[in-house]
Amino acid sequence: MGGFSKQGIDLPTPGQDILKLIAPPPREAREKRSHYASELLGCSRQLYYKWIGAPETDPPTETQLRKMEAGSDAHALFLSRLKEAEKRGLLFLLDTEKSIELNIEGLTYPIRGYIDFIIAITNQEKNNEKYVIEYKSTFGHQTTRILDEPRLSHLVQLWVYAQVEEADHYVVIYEDRGSKLGTWYEIAKINGALWYNKEGSKLWARTGIHWNQIVDKLRMIEVAVAEQKPPPRVDPITGEEFKAFLSKDGKKIQKTKVVWLADGTKKVARTHWMCADYCPYRALCWLNEEEK
Ligand code: SF4
Repeated sequence: MGGFSKQGIDLPTPGQDILKLIAPPPREAREKRSHYASELLGCSRQLYYKWIGAPETDPPTETQLRKMEAGSDAHALFLSRLKEAEKRGLLFLLDTEKSIELNIEGLTYPIRGYIDFIIAITNQEKNNEKYVIEYKSTFGHQTTRILDEPRLSHLVQLWVYAQVEEADHYVVIYEDRGSKLGTWYEIAKINGALWYNKEGSKLWARTGIHWNQIVDKLRMIEVAVAEQKPPPRVDPITGEEFKAFLSKDGKKIQKTKVVWLADGTKKVARTHWMCADYCPYRALCWLNEEEK
């Protein structure tokens, strides 16, 4: 009876050759000259490192670069669907990737960003209402989470756009890259604070974020850069702690650590996902420090 057998044969590797050719190139370092709308709730220390042009000790891996590329692909696909709808007379695509700049008193540098899409819906009911859209593609657990709660940083990004671009609605649209399962949230400013609703619900939720907190954070980062002093690892707006656990010799970041609670029980504490896998300054920030 026939069967498979294995032996080492030196054959060409055409698939691998092609994949190598189209692998995403490494990111180029760029001098930072503005705050970005997309990073206002990011780790202050990470932003500080970007501002001072610190070398990336942990640049994104090829897999991470591919994921970013998949995000851009999803974006391009969404744009083509909008164009298709425009051809059918359902909407006007007014702008894409619109560059914006917001100058704020008390800050040396502006906030910049790119509005993904600006459209007007043309049916009678909507009467040419104008929409500013931030599009985000998601995958895996992200999708499950986002169906329940939007990412605050995305709402804040839209909030920046709302200050420079007049529109009737400001929405963030989430869509899973595979299943196309998605949801959307709309933002509004009420008494200086940021609110949002899900899918047009009448129930608006308050984020607790005020605009002056964002300005204060950016000012704090500008001062830290001027003084060359890394800022704390806790976000001053949300209180989110960017925390990592180190191995005993202080040379490795551990994803988890067992910690004992005051009542004598123990729990598994996790290194913040950003410090564990994504931040390009992980080694610079944490290694050779005492265990936090
Ligand atoms: S490793 Fe964590 S705490 Fe340090 S800069 Fe990066 S995100 Fe911030």
